[in-house]
Amino acid sequence: MIPAVLPTYNRAPLTFAKGQGAWLETEDGTRYLDLGAGIAVNALGHAAPELVEVLTQQAQRLWHVSNLYRIPEQERLARLLTQHTFADTCFFTNSGTEACELAVKMARHHWSQKDPKRTRILAFAGAFHGRSSAAIAAAGTEKMTKGFGPLLPGFTQLPWGDHDALRAAMAEPDVGAVMIEPVQGEGGIRPLPDQCLKGLRDLCDETGVLMIADEVQCGMGRTGRLFAHEWAGVTPDIMMVAKGIGGGFPIGAVLATEEAAASMSAGTHGSTYGGNPLGCAVAARVVEVMTGDGFLEGVRARGAHLHQGLQGLVSSHPDVFDSVRGLGLMWGLKCRIAPADLVQAGYAEHVLTVPAADNVVRLLPPLTITEAEIGEALARLDRAAARLSAA
Ligand SMILES: *Cc1c(COP(=O)(O)O)cnc(C)c1O
Repeated sequence: MIPAVLPTYNRAPLTFAKGQGAWLETEDGTRYLDLGAGIAVNALGHAAPELVEVLTQQAQRLWHVSNLYRIPEQERLARLLTQHTFADTCFFTNSGTEACELAVKMARHHWSQKDPKRTRILAFAGAFHGRSSAAIAAAGTEKMTKGFGPLLPGFTQLPWGDHDALRAAMAEPDVGAVMIEPVQGEGGIRPLPDQCLKGLRDLCDETGVLMIADEVQCGMGRTGRLFAHEWAGVTPDIMMVAKGIGGGFPIGAVLATEEAAASMSAGTHGSTYGGNPLGCAVAARVVEVMTGDGFLEGVRARGAHLHQGLQGLVSSHPDVFDSVRGLGLMWGLKCRIAPADLVQAGYAEHVLTVPAADNVVRLLPPLTITEAEIGEALARLDRAAARLSAA
């Protein structure tokens, strides 16, 4: 008999009853150090007091009115995001997948008047953009598309980090946009070298092709900058945001330049829940905290500490680990064993990690994780790896 919850996930037999900061606790009081943060979502930790405060205050006032009316919390969040980024305008969604939908629609709508043959969107092998029909067609991974055809047409996947392939593809007259994660998340924490992102931006400038940055996982402070593209000193035309922006409340966004978004007039897109007062109030506090004094410097400093420890871990367990890659508080441990086995051994040591493609185990802790907790995390990962060496 099919379970009451559609079984599209292979779930670990773990149930958490509450969380605080970087820790999750089961019903019987067992504490787990959380290096997954609900897949890069709980950026300020579990039950962050400043978010609990803003959420409960807003909940007592107003939850939802729909976009038939002006929403001051939404306007305030949009002002904050446009102040702190390249963007001139924002649309709020409830997830990263919905941000992908709008990014695709916006790019195509942009070209529909100017040069209607430019419907093709280039993406990259190993990418992940969500699970909607557009998002699976964009990423193109067989694991996600198989059985779901016919796929939305007009997407091409290019090899990751191959500038010549990119240049050749972008010379085609039907290309309208390139969608890229500056650091691939699900693909196995693969940061694109800065010069590649710069090269991509240059090609976009030469051809007029729109650059869509998918910063759903690598954005919102994760890499030690508010957004990962900032490291390369370039800006996209359209950006997808979600995960960390709500700190655990479901909200996403599309940020865009005026030029890229100019054709999106009343009636061209919509969302019943998107930009509701609850989500926007919480996200505005997240943005304020992250752009506040010392927050991102702290992510970089603790990220450097974690990186150093992970390098030690890799050299202590050459039978388990191949290498470590990433930046900020977004790290991938490339394994010589099955990543699922390391995640499993982590459960036994009460430390939570997340598997990814390319034989990688991801570490995406809350950005508020302390130095002491990083030390504890490294000790637990070391014991988890020792279990696998012994086995
Ligand atoms: C998680 C993710 C998405 C999809 O976001 P959802 O909120 O799960 O719909 C899109 N792009 C990237 C890079 C992601 O990591």
